[in-house]
Amino acid sequence: MIAEILSVGTELLMGQIANTDAQYVSRRLAELGVALYRHTAVGDNPARVKEALGEALSRADIVITTGGLGPTEDDLTKEMVAEYFGLEMQLHRPSLEAIEAFMARVGHPMGENNRKQAYFPVGALILPNACGTAPGCVVEAQGKAVAVLPGPPHELKDMFEKQLAPWLARRSGAHIESRFLRVFGIGESRLETMLKDLFHTDNPTLALYCGPGEVQARVSALAKDADAARAMIAPLEAEIRRRLGDAVYGEGADCSIEKTAFTLLKSRGETVTFAESCTGGLLAARLVGVPGASEVLGESHVTYADAAKARVLGVKPETLERYTAVSAECAREMAEGARRISGADWAVSTTGYAGPDGGADGTPVGTVFIAVAGKHGTQVKECHFRGQRAFIRTLAASWGFNMLRLEMEK
Ligand code: ATP
Ligand code: MG
Repeated sequence: MIAEILSVGTELLMGQIANTDAQYVSRRLAELGVALYRHTAVGDNPARVKEALGEALSRADIVITTGGLGPTEDDLTKEMVAEYFGLEMQLHRPSLEAIEAFMARVGHPMGENNRKQAYFPVGALILPNACGTAPGCVVEAQGKAVAVLPGPPHELKDMFEKQLAPWLARRSGAHIESRFLRVFGIGESRLETMLKDLFHTDNPTLALYCGPGEVQARVSALAKDADAARAMIAPLEAEIRRRLGDAVYGEGADCSIEKTAFTLLKSRGETVTFAESCTGGLLAARLVGVPGASEVLGESHVTYADAAKARVLGVKPETLERYTAVSAECAREMAEGARRISGADWAVSTTGYAGPDGGADGTPVGTVFIAVAGKHGTQVKECHFRGQRAFIRTLAASWGFNMLRLEMEK
């Protein structure tokens, strides 16, 4: 079953509202295994609504419309569906009674406009509206189906979940399964080059989504059930993992680099501590954001001033003097000092220029040294990030977690 979404509303075209209804329906269709190939938005204009409907129906088996179901003159989606199929509009008594009861409940007088909301194309399946006055409907004709849903998002969601979703699940003999591979440390364009030849298949499909400092590779397959879809995904996923190696740090929409580091620490029964300068506690805060963090984190330090780096972490005054605080040497001593004073198995340190200014010695903004100390020694990485202060700090923290998990996996 192939679906399209047709969103009706001049506000959408004027940029006054974002099309969150289409976003919601899209996400749910994917979960229900309905293939969705297009979205269209059209204004409240009868001729253009009818034309857009015809175009969508020429490609899709089912068109889901949003908006234009209300009582006013410009709400005309149902009417255009009826006209398109050559069906009369007919009063649906239970809907009229429900609208009368709703209007009485909210204390508004019942107008002629509200009666219009109880008229539907002949033969339509009515979808009652638990949150508003306008019922939706499903019209089946000429081997196609049109589902007409209201515009207000809470009404749309309620109607979709309670009525259209069960209807669609009964209808669709298919299932879409998606896997999100989380990739750290390889930029989008390089990733695209590395996977170039894998983008050309229709089913399963591969797509890349760019996030701060990372990329997600989505692999989706359409099949008769979840098992069959997973079987189609598996070889493509294996090939992607083979090419990207340890740059793939996890899987799933709610995975994160700190969760991966946490899971590794926990599975090994090990602990971590942080010695943060430019990230100012971000590493600790992000790890604490993972439920169960107390199992792997006992203490953490923010040492912003040189004096604090020396006093708390034992960074040598000569190191600070000779190399400055933003140096590989300082990052190394921060991590080793934090590991020593905390007794943790691992320590991650950050020191750098988050901006807007770089170092007095000409070190550019975005220069960050990150060190990971463990029982087999200390690794230091010099990073050059670009962006605003907050972004540089976020990236530095992410890279800290990434280095930590790579060291653990060694
Ligand atoms: P009403 O009974 O409120 O007139 P309706 O079904 O006729 O409902 P519209 O008139 O098209 O729907 O839109 C009503 C309101 O719902 C809009 O002002 C807007 O706030 C919201 N809305 C409509 N379409 C969308 C959409 N595609 N995405 C998000 N919000 C929407
Ligand atoms: Mg309206």
